[in-house]
Amino acid sequence: MILNAHGKINLSLDITGRREDGYHYVSMVMQSVALCDVVSVDKNSSGAVFVKLDNPEVPDGQENLAYKACELMISQFCLNCGFDVFIQKHIPVAGGMAGGSTDAAAVMKAVNHLCGLQLSQRQLMELGLCLGADVPFCIQEKPALATGIGEILTSVAGLPENVWILLVNPNEKISTKTIYDMVDQNLVYSTVDNRALISALEMGNLHLASHYMKNVMQAVSTSLCGKITKVLQQLKELGAVCALMSGSGATCFGIFETMPDLKAAESKFSGCYVSLTKPLSFHI
Ligand code: ATP
Repeated sequence: MILNAHGKINLSLDITGRREDGYHYVSMVMQSVALCDVVSVDKNSSGAVFVKLDNPEVPDGQENLAYKACELMISQFCLNCGFDVFIQKHIPVAGGMAGGSTDAAAVMKAVNHLCGLQLSQRQLMELGLCLGADVPFCIQEKPALATGIGEILTSVAGLPENVWILLVNPNEKISTKTIYDMVDQNLVYSTVDNRALISALEMGNLHLASHYMKNVMQAVSTSLCGKITKVLQQLKELGAVCALMSGSGATCFGIFETMPDLKAAESKFSGCYVSLTKPLSFHI
C-alpha cells in the first residue's frame, strides 16, 4: 500500500524549559503541508524488515525511523510477517520538517491497515511517541499547538487554505541536538505569544498571525548558518507576508497570498532546494 507522508512547518516554536532527562519543553504551532514523501509498504513472509530509499544520504537500515516503526509494530503485536518499505524522499533531510517522523507515522498507519490491527488514531499516536516526539503529530497531520515535549496536541485553526508556501533550504544540514545545546547555553527561552497567534489564525487574519509567528531557534541556527538570514531576507523581497525558519532549520518558508513566481524564485535561490507547496487541507 502507498501512503503520502506529509512534512510540517512550524508557525511558531518556543522552548519553555528543560526536563531532568534532557528533553525540552516546547510550545509550538505546527502545520502540515502538501509536500510529502511517498511511502510504499508491503508485507513479506520472511519476517524481516527491508527499508530502501531513493536518497543515499538517508540511512536505509536499522537507523531509519521507518525501520524502527516496523520493528515496533512487529514486537507490540507479535506479528508473524516482515515488511518491505520503499520511500521516495521529497522532504528535505534534517531540515526541520519532521521528514523521518512522518515516514515512521505512515509506516505505522500502513501496518495497522495491512495487518488488520484496527488500532484507533489515538492508539497509534500513543504508540508512535516511543519513536519520537513529532510522530503523534505526523499521524494526525492536523494543525495543532504542541506542548509538553511536543506530544500534547491541541487542535487549532491552521493557515488559510488559499495561501502559498515557498520552502527554501540552503542545502545545509543542521543537527537538532547541536541547536538545543546552544539554546541551553544561551538561555533563549519563552518569547513567543502562541495565544495571540492562535487567535489570529482563528480569525483567518494572515497579516496579524504573521506578526506572532516566531521561532526561538532561528537566532541560534542563523549563527551557525549565515545563509538562513539571507534566505529569509530574499523571501521577504519576493513578497512573502511572513518568512520564518521551520523547526531547528535549515529549511525556511515564506507565506504568500498570491502564487509566487517559481522560476524567479529558483533563479534567486540558486544552489538551494526550492519547492512550492500549500497548507495540507484538513476537513473534520
Ligand atoms: P529532527 O528534528 O527530528 O532531528 P528533522 O525534521 O530536522 O528531524 P529528518 O529529515 O527527520 O530531520 O532527519 C533527521 C535525521 O534522521 C537525519 O540525520 C536522518 O539521517 C535520520 N533519518 C532516519 N530515518 C529517516 C527518514 N525516513 N527520513 C529522513 N531522515 C531519516
